[in-house]
Amino acid sequence: MTPMGKTEKVEGRKRPDPKGPARFTPLPEVPLESPMGDKIAWAQRVYEEFGKELLSDPAVSDLLKKFERAALDARSEMLRTGIVEMCGDCDLHEGGSCCGRGIENRYSGVLLLLNLLLGRTLSTERQDPSGCLFLGKRGCLLLAREVICVNYLCGRITEAVDPALLAPLREREGKELDLLFLLTERVRGCLKKRTSNIEHPTSNIE
Ligand code: SF4
Repeated sequence: MTPMGKTEKVEGRKRPDPKGPARFTPLPEVPLESPMGDKIAWAQRVYEEFGKELLSDPAVSDLLKKFERAALDARSEMLRTGIVEMCGDCDLHEGGSCCGRGIENRYSGVLLLLNLLLGRTLSTERQDPSGCLFLGKRGCLLLAREVICVNYLCGRITEAVDPALLAPLREREGKELDLLFLLTERVRGCLKKRTSNIEHPTSNIE
């Protein structure tokens, strides 16, 4: 396990081609405080029935590409600083991890949907009982992540790493988060146009 899942290669699948015609009126976004299973079910349903239409929106498509580049760029920078190695070492020898159980609850339905649009898979089974639902064996399974997951660094890291090395990392993370904000707003805007009052799907994910 690795702190905030930032330290290893992102697991995922290739961006799939969403199935089905664009005939679905998206459900209103599931509330943030809903059970994670409900949020995942909402994201998957909207992706399956409306994903193609979202991906064909020029602004969404452009922002997805820019965001993916920025997120991967920030992670490469983290590797370059040596933080990845330090986190791996802490995980291996001291059982440290910043990706604790419950952090997944900070994720909104739209943020989960963005991960599907980026070709990621949403985990429904926790791999580590004390870890975040989205923590895989090689780090975080998501690409679009909450602010805390993007820029959290523990005191040990901030003390050990030269601030001159951290500045370029912070700059890249800032770009990643700016693009994430724009992308989220654009997708919410697209969904809002088609929203109607339909009951949310539910599931029993822990
Ligand atoms: S989503 Fe979970 S696994 Fe990924 S970085 Fe955040 S806490 Fe870690």
